[in-house]
Amino acid sequence: MTENTQTNSAEYIPALKKIRKRRLYLWFVILAYLPAMMVALESPDYKTWVTVVFVTWIVFLIFTVALACLARCPRCGECFHTHGPTFLPFRRCLHCALHVNADKRAPEEDPPNAKYTNKK
Ligand SMILES: [Zn+2]
Repeated sequence: MTENTQTNSAEYIPALKKIRKRRLYLWFVILAYLPAMMVALESPDYKTWVTVVFVTWIVFLIFTVALACLARCPRCGECFHTHGPTFLPFRRCLHCALHVNADKRAPEEDPPNAKYTNKK
C-alpha cells in the first residue's frame, strides 16, 4: 500500500506543481491590488489611473480565478478547488482530499478517500 501511494505521489508531481503555480498566481494578483492602487493614487491624474488599475486588476483576478478553478486533481480527476459552483482555494482537493503538497510530504497512512487512489 505504501509503495503504491509513493508511486502515485510521483505521478502527481506535474499536476500538483501546476496547481501550486496557479494558486501562487491567484495570491499574487490578490496581494498586488493594494500596492498598485497606492501607486495609482499618487498620480496627479489619479481618477484615470485608479480606474485603469481597478479594471486591469479585475481582469487579472477573473483570469487567475478561472485558471485555479479549472485545475484538475491528479488523483480523482475532478476540479481541485471547485465543488459545484463553489470555488474554495483550500490546500486539499475538495473531492478526494489530496493535499496540494502531497508530492513533498510523507505518504499518508490512511488516505481519507482511498477509493480514488487506484483510479486512473
Ligand atoms: Zn481529488
